[in-house]
Amino acid sequence: MTDTTAMLVYLVPLALVLFFYLRRHRKKEQRHVSQLEEAVQSGLTEPASLHPVFDPNRCIGSGACVPACPERAIGLIKGKGHLVKPAVCIGHGACMAACPHDAITLVFGTAKRGMDIPQVNPSFETNVPGIFIAGELGGMGLIRKAVEQGRQAMESIRKRQDRKFPLDVVIIGAGPAGLAASLGALQHKLRFLTVEQEDSLGGTVYHYPRNKIVMTAPMQLPVLGKVKMSEISKEALMQFWQDVVKKTGLKINFSERMESIARNGDGFTVKTSRASYRAKSVLLAIGRRGTPRKLEVPGEDLPKVVYRLIDPGQYRNQHVLIVGGGDSALEAALAIADEPGTTVMISYRGEAFGRVKEKNRQRLREAESKGRIKVLLQSNVKKIELQKLTLDHAGKMMEVRNDAVIVNAGGVLPTPFLKEIGILVETKYGTV
Ligand SMILES: Cc1cc2nc3c(=O)[nH]c(=O)nc-3n(C[C@H](O)[C@H](O)[C@H](O)COP(=O)(O)OP(=O)(O)OC[C@H]3O[C@@H](n4cnc5c(N)ncnc54)[C@H](O)[C@@H]3O)c2cc1C
Repeated sequence: MTDTTAMLVYLVPLALVLFFYLRRHRKKEQRHVSQLEEAVQSGLTEPASLHPVFDPNRCIGSGACVPACPERAIGLIKGKGHLVKPAVCIGHGACMAACPHDAITLVFGTAKRGMDIPQVNPSFETNVPGIFIAGELGGMGLIRKAVEQGRQAMESIRKRQDRKFPLDVVIIGAGPAGLAASLGALQHKLRFLTVEQEDSLGGTVYHYPRNKIVMTAPMQLPVLGKVKMSEISKEALMQFWQDVVKKTGLKINFSERMESIARNGDGFTVKTSRASYRAKSVLLAIGRRGTPRKLEVPGEDLPKVVYRLIDPGQYRNQHVLIVGGGDSALEAALAIADEPGTTVMISYRGEAFGRVKEKNRQRLREAESKGRIKVLLQSNVKKIELQKLTLDHAGKMMEVRNDAVIVNAGGVLPTPFLKEIGILVETKYGTV
């Protein structure tokens, strides 16, 4: 073999490997760049909770963080880690654990959008003695963390029992944190009450999209002990919680909303939409999604008004109005418009759907051009009646036929309420 042939025999395969490697690498980077561009165009650039920041001096582009993220929110751009889909990051922290160069820090809030974190001590008690916080409200947004905090908070609360009060604790919220805390209260035979504003347990999990795969880890549940789970569908997780409630006989007051908490001697009076309760301690396990924002218009209390789409099929052959301008409003409208016999209208007070995914914007344009959805921008609902409603559309009053209203106008966050009851809240702008 001549020297040239030998070189060709070794170099050509090497060059081919390098070529395909670089091509694959470039394609991946292009995908990550377009994901980031789409997030920027849709205004979805702010992570909701705990999220990673990448130190460009330490990051050498190993890419270990990319597959580690269960939400596929991370990409590599110009050889450095980036949060390319910030809005879907929920703070698993798997990226930080996977990074071999300690280039990732998990932080709360961003320079643009602060995140309010209530002050709690290691026993989960706030600066207001007797009021405890567990779960995502405290800043950490994961199921297993919420469960663990709910369990630990109850360990602290049980030490405060006082027979002067009819209840040892009122637990507010039946998401993962509130459920674990309620099981803890049951295990320690506390006199307790759990109130949940919705008609189901599960908290945020109840609102996940159908068939979502939930990534979690084994957790310790009071009464039941260690529960092994890692990947589970939303439906299976909901079923698991429902079985737990059935098996343990746990009582939850559904559709009962906590409205205020006031000091009462060395305990509290908790006022709900149904009654007043006196308790020595209060556990806030209310998450961060808040309470659905209401329209505050006459007729809003009619049963045809709801704040969430459950089953598009129930609106078949009906005239439906969706209120709101976010992704959930658009997705609800598109899903209902697919049902036979429906007429669907979206009412949004803004001039354009600024903060929605491009894909939804496009689907809406198509549905609108085919006459399947009517869009009323710069409009506000003024009055709701049994078979019609009144809207103010750019200053003109109009009446439309209506059988159902779905309000997707965001949530009222709990921060003002926390401040009102004296809990210290710190706003974090991209800090640990
Ligand atoms: C789209 C999405 C996907 C996610 N995926 C995952 C995942 O794969 N794995 C994971 O570990 N985590 C995931 N999370 C995060 C996880 O769902 C939350 O961290 C967890 O549910 C927090 O539990 P929590 O009990 O603190 O709060 P929540 O689950 O928010 O529950 C709070 C409860 O309190 C109730 N409440 C609020 N205010 C009141 C009131 N005034 N009166 C009565 N009740 C009230 C609410 O109705 C709610 O039921 C995801 C979150 C989202 C948004």
